[in-house]
Amino acid sequence: MRDLITVAHRGDAEVDAKPCGVMSAYRDVAAVVTGSMGVPGRDTLSPVRLPLSLSKFATVLVHSHCCPPLLSSSSSLFFDLMAPNDGIIETGWKMIEDLTTNAYQIQQQLLEEILAQNVHTEYLDKFLNGSSDKKLFKEKVPIINYEDIKTYMEKIANGEPSDILLAEPLLELTLSSGTSGGKNKIMPMTAKELDKRTIIRNTLPWSVINKFADGLEQGKGMYLFFVMPDMRTPSGLRARPSLTSCLKSSYFQKQISSVYTSPYATILCLDINQSVYCQFLCGLLQRDEVLRVGASFANVLGRAIRFLKDYWRELCTNIRTGQLSHWITDPGCRNALSLILNKPNPQLADSIEGTCSKKSWEGIIKELWPRTKFVDVIITGSMAQCIPTLEFYCGGLPLVSSYYAASEGYLGINLEPLSKPSNISYTLLPNMAFYEFIPIKENHQELADQPQHLEGVYDDQDCKETLNKKEEIEPVELMDVKLGQCYEIVVTTFTGLYRYKIGDILMVSGFHNNAPQFRFMKRQGVRLSIDAERTGEDGLWKAVTQALLLIEPLGFILTDYTSYADTCSTPGHYVLFWELKMKGSDDLPEINPKITEECCYIAEESLDYLYRVLRKDNRIGPLEIRVVKHGTFDALMDFFIAKGTSVGQYKTPRCIKSEEALKVMDAGVVGGYFSQKAPKQG
Ligand code: AMP
Repeated sequence: MRDLITVAHRGDAEVDAKPCGVMSAYRDVAAVVTGSMGVPGRDTLSPVRLPLSLSKFATVLVHSHCCPPLLSSSSSLFFDLMAPNDGIIETGWKMIEDLTTNAYQIQQQLLEEILAQNVHTEYLDKFLNGSSDKKLFKEKVPIINYEDIKTYMEKIANGEPSDILLAEPLLELTLSSGTSGGKNKIMPMTAKELDKRTIIRNTLPWSVINKFADGLEQGKGMYLFFVMPDMRTPSGLRARPSLTSCLKSSYFQKQISSVYTSPYATILCLDINQSVYCQFLCGLLQRDEVLRVGASFANVLGRAIRFLKDYWRELCTNIRTGQLSHWITDPGCRNALSLILNKPNPQLADSIEGTCSKKSWEGIIKELWPRTKFVDVIITGSMAQCIPTLEFYCGGLPLVSSYYAASEGYLGINLEPLSKPSNISYTLLPNMAFYEFIPIKENHQELADQPQHLEGVYDDQDCKETLNKKEEIEPVELMDVKLGQCYEIVVTTFTGLYRYKIGDILMVSGFHNNAPQFRFMKRQGVRLSIDAERTGEDGLWKAVTQALLLIEPLGFILTDYTSYADTCSTPGHYVLFWELKMKGSDDLPEINPKITEECCYIAEESLDYLYRVLRKDNRIGPLEIRVVKHGTFDALMDFFIAKGTSVGQYKTPRCIKSEEALKVMDAGVVGGYFSQKAPKQG
């Protein structure tokens, strides 16, 4: 890999590729890369040779850290070289096979490169004194979380040189959504890293899904995408969510019109209502071309469908008359729509009206976009809550969860996109970060047999004990992970994260070649606590799902939930906020107080032993369920978006920590119910 980089780095036509190890296959690619970067640019590539070299070239780009002259343009160069669908499927599969087969070597090379490149940063120098030895790295560099490195991030945001943390030039700062863990995190982003993510994001999931669904290139995707405004740090650096960066990349911009129904301007529109309205309008106008429907996370699509319920009549009027509503004032949207909505289409309007005016919206996605083959949204982790609602709207279409990604990196892809929600696994991409895994608890095999809604449910107490004994627990590398074992994932990257805990717990569910596959188990950091007990996301989810067993047979569906530790009451108590609906209809269900109180009791019974002891001793008060009216969780989402969270990356927080967010929830409460008896301790 080094040889290739050295060769390519020269950027001249005198190619001297020295094949070595894994990279021996890429000799001619070095020539392509180098030649293409010569003065005449890509004109130097012969058309005959190009398709042969393309996949290797792509692999080099994602495999190695790319050569500097190519960096600023590598993804656009890569995508310039081919039409969106031309060759990408084969290229993607070759990449996957190559990356997963050579997972171990790639991981070792990656760590070597990261250390060699960053050893003189202030941060690493503090621990390594200029050594780039891998063994020393593991001995001396501590495993950290965001709080430990926050001051570095803040210094960079405030204008200190970014080489205190990373050697590569900074492009911008990435903002995490901050909804699952509590607060927005900021972290460095470089041009190389963004390039790498853009290539991976636009190549691998597409290759995978094409293997399972034929002819996708003959139609379009009706995807709802949203960007956030670019922000500026006090020192003038650009800061934005990683999804926004990808959506604003030149590649995405180039391919959008041939691949998706939404014109680029409608995605760039910062007024969410105008954006989603226009994206739906374009999706409906091109409904015969739509072969897939999607959004980033399940809750975003769920929210969009609720929007459609409010606006379908108006959308139909626009289609019928060929006139765009006046409240769409965004010039980009108006321009884009003028090209698509240019004549009355009463026939289409009648057909959509006929579908949308049905009392039940069961299967609405399939009816509105009849050629759709699947719905592409992430439904794992905290999104599992949305599955019943989405399945209702999908009418039997498969839900496809394509990837596992975070602000820290685009880390895994789902190689079996049509698998059932309970079987979704992500194959870790060994070129995206150097991974370590902190074992959480032995023998999680039994979890593999649990239903989806109980996945990840293991005793929080065990987890706590494990974490307390952390010193004794050595993190393992990618090739040493064991099937059925849960791990907390730790990453080291080129972008200044060294032995950094993302905060996710994953369980090994299999291997593809030599790369492990994981099921997403839970997010660390969701904690309810009144006294000495600690309830994490899994404990909470278990309590909620047990209580639901009582009301689901009565036709209730829990559309969303969150929790709060109310320490103002004496003693303090747990509060669960529930938004409910009846199966098959959107009517607010009639709440039977007795049954809801029983739900409170069952939830308490399902919480851990310490909770039950403290509850019995009256050190924790009776658990309360506050039922909220429809739209309350949408209001919560709006609240977070107004505070700067990216729509596309929003996840319902499972534990409310801010007073302001609590006010939003409380404003929607239609009834509060308490557990009427203390739970048993045994
Ligand atoms: P953010 O950094 O704001 O984009 O949030 C990233 C977090 O979203 C990850 O650390 C996970 O907790 C969660 N996440 C991302 N992808 C998935 C997925 N496929 N399944 C479950 N959770 C996910």
